[in-house]
Amino acid sequence: MKTIQSLAPQKVWNHFHSLTQIPRPSGFMKPITAFLLDFGKGLGLESFTDEVGNVIIRKPATPGMENRKGVILQAHMDMVPQKNNDTVHNFETDPIETYIDGDWVKAKGTTLGADDGLGVAAIMAVLEDQTLKHGPLEALITKDEETGMYGAFGLKPGTLNGEIMLNLDSEDEGELYIGCAGGMDVTASIEYKEVEPEGGDIAVKVILKGLRGGHSGLEINQGRANANKLLVRFLREAVASYEARLVSWEGGNMRNAIPREAHAVVTIPAENEEELLSLVKYCEDLFNEEFGAIETPISFKGERVELPKGETPEEIQDNVIDAIFACQNGVMRMIPSVPDTVETSSNLAIITIGGGKADIKILARSSSDSMKEYLTTSLESCFAMAGMKVELTGGYSGWQPDVNSPILHAMKESYKQQFGVEPAVKVIHAGLECGIIGANVAGLDMISFGPTLRSPHSPDERAYIPSVSKFYDFLVATLEQTPLKK
Ligand SMILES: [Zn+2]
Repeated sequence: MKTIQSLAPQKVWNHFHSLTQIPRPSGFMKPITAFLLDFGKGLGLESFTDEVGNVIIRKPATPGMENRKGVILQAHMDMVPQKNNDTVHNFETDPIETYIDGDWVKAKGTTLGADDGLGVAAIMAVLEDQTLKHGPLEALITKDEETGMYGAFGLKPGTLNGEIMLNLDSEDEGELYIGCAGGMDVTASIEYKEVEPEGGDIAVKVILKGLRGGHSGLEINQGRANANKLLVRFLREAVASYEARLVSWEGGNMRNAIPREAHAVVTIPAENEEELLSLVKYCEDLFNEEFGAIETPISFKGERVELPKGETPEEIQDNVIDAIFACQNGVMRMIPSVPDTVETSSNLAIITIGGGKADIKILARSSSDSMKEYLTTSLESCFAMAGMKVELTGGYSGWQPDVNSPILHAMKESYKQQFGVEPAVKVIHAGLECGIIGANVAGLDMISFGPTLRSPHSPDERAYIPSVSKFYDFLVATLEQTPLKK
């Protein structure tokens, strides 16, 4: 049976194979760090780790190329450790088992680690090859990207000399990324003392489910329903027309996922029960009418539950419901200079209300730092009006696209020459290390590109074999055509 070491370009696949033999789940960086340092030193190159644990390897310019701008080749050393339920695998001790399936390389029951192992392997191939032409190179292999971009955050300004950075962590060959979104976690909360339900009230639980959800950045422009935003429409009407009182609410479970499910418990006078259940049915039909083209049927049902001891005080309930109703959600603005690309968005991700506390968690994203601030301030204003405390945490910078970037022009030309077609130029509405590194190291001219991968971060992760040669040839040609120093 053919192994991946027989694939072309052989040097890239050979190094990738070596990487699969070294455990490197995020948070477990010792063996891979030692391996990369040994590799660099073995080639006689300056190799070291910075304070936070990123590996840096310097390779001097080849003869005649000393007058080119310095290039930083960047990839991350860690991988997402995911396996199928029936796969026995210890990510801290066991090698990844790869196999070839048609045009794809896959792993047996686990993530493959092509994200970003193929980026690291390409860097190793460039560092090793004595026949290439390039200016001064610095490899920056960051640690723990997948769990919080800790290596990128920890990189100190002044560590690197390069003026251009090629990030090798994108997932579609033929696409050049020139920008990414930054993010900010917005959390609004309030504490209250529960009050007793009125005599003669009954309690109903309403359950909304069956939504598609999706990635809160990459899929925010798909017009999909947000479970919390649908539920608030029902709740506001139930409070206004049927004297419903909010007991509890739970919707969504991850900040970076569009919420697919939400449920709430309300109390109402017993005589209004039937009308409330008709409102549930009315909303279910309405939501399916509005989203029928996008969502498979949305299910919204109500059922009688035991009367709870406490509920939300009326004023708090009204304020919080109004704020949830009013807050910005979804795409706020597209990028004026890049067609069809989201610039600024928010995801009303997680709501938990009940037992004396209400918590609302939103993820705000933008490739423009000032627009991100505009959005987070508008969210802050909205929830502050409801008397809630608003915290902004976990902020990271976006990478604002520069359509006049010199390396972008060089790479577009080079791609056209090699492959006869223009590469697509895109901005990703999610975080990349470029955003963080670019915010730390002033004036870097950056591009992100890579071979074609599918389903990264899952045991279905696979790498498209023909894209790896194209990616590597393009990288080599880019280095050869690096712009001159000013
Ligand atoms: Zn990655």
